[in-house]
Amino acid sequence: MTAAVFIDRDGTITHDIGYAHKIGDFKLLPNAVKGLKLLRNFKIFIVTNQSGIGKGFFTLKEFFNYNKEVLAELKKHNIKIEKTYYCPHKPEDNCSCRKPKTKFLKVAEKKFRIDLKKSFVIGDKKADVELGKNANCKSILVLTGDGKKTIKEAKPDFIAKDLMEAAKWIVKNDNQ
Ligand SMILES: [Zn+2]
Repeated sequence: MTAAVFIDRDGTITHDIGYAHKIGDFKLLPNAVKGLKLLRNFKIFIVTNQSGIGKGFFTLKEFFNYNKEVLAELKKHNIKIEKTYYCPHKPEDNCSCRKPKTKFLKVAEKKFRIDLKKSFVIGDKKADVELGKNANCKSILVLTGDGKKTIKEAKPDFIAKDLMEAAKWIVKNDNQ
């Protein structure tokens, strides 16, 4: 059993420009690479709500191409993302995969033999913090993206300025 870090993409790893899907708009947040590098002893997953697909704002293919760009850029820095879990549904579809629902984490738990109790969720939205709580992981709110708004409505285990500060806290609190 191994510990994992489940990380939101838009607003946590990359700039959130709202329904980001155009490769030209892709930009990593400052310190994102440094933070991810600190997590080398963990399995890293991206978990992202992409309702823009269900709403018809962009296609699944556009999502894949954009995400491929993100993964390729991270790979240049020797950062390995085990898997990207994405929910393509609209909130009103009431699917079982949209954060803060835990389906993707349960799938990862089985497939990658993850110990969720020793794992972490990082994100800038209430759904990320709640996902952490719902899945028995520790939750970290980053103040990038929507984080400064979220701080009023969510109670994470830790509040970090950005992904690097989140990663430092994880390394310190890692009891694998
Ligand atoms: Zn879904």
